[in-house]
Amino acid sequence: MHTRIKAEASLGVLYASYGIMNRVCWQGRLPPSLLRMSYRLSPRTIAYAATDFRIVFNAKYCRKFDDSGFLQVMAHEMIHIWQYSLGRRGGHGRDFKNEQLRLGLVLGREIPSDSPMGYVFFMHRLKNLHPAEAARMLAAYSGPRKVETEYYRTLCQ
Ligand SMILES: [Zn+2]
Repeated sequence: MHTRIKAEASLGVLYASYGIMNRVCWQGRLPPSLLRMSYRLSPRTIAYAATDFRIVFNAKYCRKFDDSGFLQVMAHEMIHIWQYSLGRRGGHGRDFKNEQLRLGLVLGREIPSDSPMGYVFFMHRLKNLHPAEAARMLAAYSGPRKVETEYYRTLCQ
């Protein structure tokens, strides 16, 4: 019971991060998306987004991230959600790269503090939100994984 409450608290943090990024980067226009962990992903997959508006994180990777790294992974997948929300196929073509640039995500460069992602980091510090820690706690949750879909369902009601 106790651990389920921890899993739900972790999900609360992850959805708060999704909400902040959605508002700051897309004016809240992205649809709600299911967030969950998987232990079955190939070691080469850090996370993926699916056309039914779902972001799946590789639980085995979650130990390695700090908040900045985790938010960058989530932002990458949210760009795919943005593509899917417009009925596009996804992928890492020009529309994806333009969106990365717009958000301040330039590979190998520090994220500018005056970019949307810079503001996302600032909001996380302001609210003392730690999504990487939440992802680790959720990945360590050993109870039934349906906690993730059930939590999402109550959010969508
Ligand atoms: Zn991708």
